[in-house]
Amino acid sequence: MLVALAGGVGASKFLRGLVGVWDPEDLTVIVNTGDDIRIHGLYVSPDLDSVIYRLAGVGDDERGWGRADETWNVLNTLVSLGEPGWYGLGDRDIAAQLFKKRLMTAGLSLSEATTELCKRFGISSTIIPMTDDIVETRIEVALPMRGAEEIGFQEYWVERKARDRVKAIRFRGIDSARAAPGIVDAIRDASAVILCPSNPAVSISPILAVPLIRETVMAARCPKISVTPIIAGAPVLGMADKLLPAWGIEVSARGVAKLYAEFIDYFVLDEADAIQADEIAALGVEPVVARTLMNSPSAERALARAVVDVLFARH
Ligand code: GDP
Repeated sequence: MLVALAGGVGASKFLRGLVGVWDPEDLTVIVNTGDDIRIHGLYVSPDLDSVIYRLAGVGDDERGWGRADETWNVLNTLVSLGEPGWYGLGDRDIAAQLFKKRLMTAGLSLSEATTELCKRFGISSTIIPMTDDIVETRIEVALPMRGAEEIGFQEYWVERKARDRVKAIRFRGIDSARAAPGIVDAIRDASAVILCPSNPAVSISPILAVPLIRETVMAARCPKISVTPIIAGAPVLGMADKLLPAWGIEVSARGVAKLYAEFIDYFVLDEADAIQADEIAALGVEPVVARTLMNSPSAERALARAVVDVLFARH
C-alpha cells in the first residue's frame, strides 16, 4: 500500500498521474483539512474536493480547482440576496456539498462522508481527511491601518488574494486533533510514504502536525519520498513563496528538502534545480532529479512513474 500526504491542486495532479501507473486500490491518500471553510451553511473541504474531483475525472484543469463544465447560478443568486460571493462554488460543486451536508447532518463524520462521496464518484483509492476534528489554519498578517491580525486561511488566500504580509501561521486545534480512523494503520502498513508536491506550510505541515500522524510517519520504516512543489525558486501556483519565509524557510527545492530532511529518504527536485542536488545530499537525503512540471497528463504520469521507480527499484 502506498500512502500519500496531500494538499489540493498540486497533489491532485500528481495523484492522477499516480493512479495511471499504480493500482488505485493500493493507494491511501491522507488529505489536509486545515483550509476547510464553513460557508452558506456548507462544510467545504477544498483540498479533499480537489483530490476527489481530479481522481473522479471531473475536475476543472484550467481553473485548477472545482469541477469542469461548471455553472454559477446558485452562487450568483446568493450574491443577489446579499450573501458573500468571494468564495467560488459552482452549481455542480454545491450539489456534492449538499450531499455531504446531508450525510454529516445525519451524524456521519467527515471521514465517513468522504468515503461515501468517493464511492458515489467511483474512486477506488482510499481517501481520508487528516482528522475528523476541527483544525483551522490561521494566518497572522499585518493589515493596513489595523496592524497584526489573525485571519482564516481562505480569507487570506481567496478573499484578500495573499496581499498581506505574513507574520505567522498557526493550526488552531491541532494539539488535540486525532488522526481520522484508518490513518495510523495505513501508515504502519505502508510500503512507502509520498509527500505530494503540495504547499509545505499549509498543506503538508498541518497533516504532519496532527500528533499521532507525525509520530507514525517518523516511526515508519518504509521509504519516504517528497516531490518538490518549488521549481526554480518559485511555486508553480499558490502562495508558498509568501508563507515559507514566515518560517525562515528559503523558497527553493533545498529549502523544502531541509524542512523534511529529518524523516525523508528521497527528495525529487526539478531538472531546473539540478545544481542543488549536492546540497540536498548533504542533508542526508538522496536527491532525484526529474521533470516535475505537470502541465499535461503524460507529464503527471511520468513524474509518478519516476517516484514509483525510485521507491521500488532501490528497495
Ligand atoms: P492547494 O492546497 O490547492 O494550494 O494545493 P497543494 O498544496 O497541493 O498545491 C499547491 C502546491 O503545488 C504549490 O506549492 C505548487 O507549487 C505545487 N504545484 C502545483 N502544480 C505543480 C506542478 O506541476 N509541479 C510541481 N512540482 N509542483 C506543483
